[in-house]
Amino acid sequence: MTDTTQPGHAPAGTSRWIDLSRDSLQLIAEGVTETAGFGVAAISVARDDGYLHVTAVAGNEDARRTLKGHRTAIDELMDEVAKGDDWGLLTFVPHERMQLEDGQWGWVPDIVPLDEPDAWHPLDLLVALLYDTEGVLRGTLTIDLPEDGRRPSPAQRRLLNRYAAQTGRAVLTILEREELADQVRLAEAARLVVRRASVQRSLPRILEVAQPALVEGFRAAGMWIQTVDEDGLGHGKVHANNGSEIELPAEIVRIAERAARAAWHAQAPQIVTRGRSFAHGVTEAEGEQIFAFLDSIEIGSLLFVPIGVGDECLGNLVLTRAPKATVWSETEASAALDIGRDLGSAILNARAFEREHRLVEQLQELDTYKSQLIATVSHELKNPLTSILGHLEILESVELERPVRTSLSAMERGARRLGRVVDDLLLLSKVGDPGNPLLARAVDMRSIVDDVVDMVAVSAARGGLKVEVAPPEQPLHALGDAVELDRVVSNLVSNAVKYTPEGGSIRITLARQGDEVVLTCADDGLGISADDQQRLFREFFRSTNPEAVARPGTGLGLAIVRRIVERHGGRIEVESELGRGSCFRVFLPAA
Ligand code: ADP
Repeated sequence: MTDTTQPGHAPAGTSRWIDLSRDSLQLIAEGVTETAGFGVAAISVARDDGYLHVTAVAGNEDARRTLKGHRTAIDELMDEVAKGDDWGLLTFVPHERMQLEDGQWGWVPDIVPLDEPDAWHPLDLLVALLYDTEGVLRGTLTIDLPEDGRRPSPAQRRLLNRYAAQTGRAVLTILEREELADQVRLAEAARLVVRRASVQRSLPRILEVAQPALVEGFRAAGMWIQTVDEDGLGHGKVHANNGSEIELPAEIVRIAERAARAAWHAQAPQIVTRGRSFAHGVTEAEGEQIFAFLDSIEIGSLLFVPIGVGDECLGNLVLTRAPKATVWSETEASAALDIGRDLGSAILNARAFEREHRLVEQLQELDTYKSQLIATVSHELKNPLTSILGHLEILESVELERPVRTSLSAMERGARRLGRVVDDLLLLSKVGDPGNPLLARAVDMRSIVDDVVDMVAVSAARGGLKVEVAPPEQPLHALGDAVELDRVVSNLVSNAVKYTPEGGSIRITLARQGDEVVLTCADDGLGISADDQQRLFREFFRSTNPEAVARPGTGLGLAIVRRIVERHGGRIEVESELGRGSCFRVFLPAA
């Protein structure tokens, strides 16, 4: 008997009911042997593998031992029954019409028939075929070894028919309950797979989290997943239960890949076991190769499930069972197809994520390259510039013609401007360099603001600007690098001075908000259009406003500010309107 009679892993309540139903089959079989005067009664259940599996046997000890685990092919039985006599639910096939060979019926009583015309022969067959309301064969009741050694009388037949009807009902109940238990178990597995797999970001992780639910829910010995390449060509990868890659023979991989596409197209999983034909374009010779491979890894049957999304097949899931285990049921196959769909979506998600991840890495590489380029170029410019400015200074003490002096001072202005760009570039690459970590300590922001206001006082006065500072009562400490934070404040304040026309005013405030120190620098100057605000903090960005561009600048000041603020774990916000003024707000972690 196969493990159909083993206690299942179904939810506790259902498996108890199945056990009770099996007990009732045993009672019916015993009723036949005890009250109908027969030595042996066996009840078999029809399974999806095309065999009748003996589920209950009563009577003769030898028969019980031999019949345990016996399977009979439904086709073969039907061929024999076709030659029998119709006794109601029962069919009687006298041995002389039987073609089956010794041993094919599982057990043949060791008796010598009576020398009478109605004597029972050890090879006679008395069987009730048990159909459901849809006319599908669901089981059989086989009766053997009459105590009186004779073929049953009409009265005995009536009694046996009653037992047969009872058996039919019991078999149907047991099958319905088993199906229900299967559905509950598989639905649970599917729920777990979806919940766990859909949030994973890589295929190995999907396998790792889905595998326990799949193996347990489907009572599989093991599983693997084969994926088709992203472009749908060539061979994908094969992953075993634990997420590691496994080696399948190349030929098997090729067959599986083709079959998966066909199976996905047909939306039909395939149960693979000896004696069952292949679909999805797998030839007989290929089937043999598959079985040889399964034998080599001691696998008796497998459930081959296509994985996909929409029209696209993404691979296949294979669930395996040991040679002696039950073959897959149709309920399991259809639940597995749903899982193939869920895994398909999860794989697609994971691929999108992997692609995104690769793209981010490429962008980061590009960014690093750009920073290195800027750093190298500005270093290379720095030395010749210093030398040019040095020589210009020497020439200042030399007596020269007026036109030459004019040219020299133009050259000096140009060189100084170039020097500012180079300095800004060097600072930008320094504060953006991951190899240059921030050494943070408590920095008094009030004194930084005071210094900066002193520094811009002259140019502000020259532009007729009012600079107001609203300092806090107490010193306010931010956590960071004093030189870098000084740069943040001076860039913001000098921008405010630069981009505010005569008569305007600038207001700087400092405050503590929770864990943060907030610096605001507001002006009623030119303002910045909404469009420009989008690109304000990019390197080399200069306004599209002609009035602003007319003032000298490198377009690096705010890029430097943003990098410094971000590497301090802070953030910067801007609020501005063209023609009305701007307000920059910097949030820094408080010390
Ligand atoms: P730069 O001032 O050297 O051009 P920044 O990076 O400091 O470079 O500023 C970028 C641009 O943002 C400036 O060109 C200017 O158009 C605009 N901007 C910055 N601060 C202000 C401000 N306070 N008011 C108006 N526009 C500003």
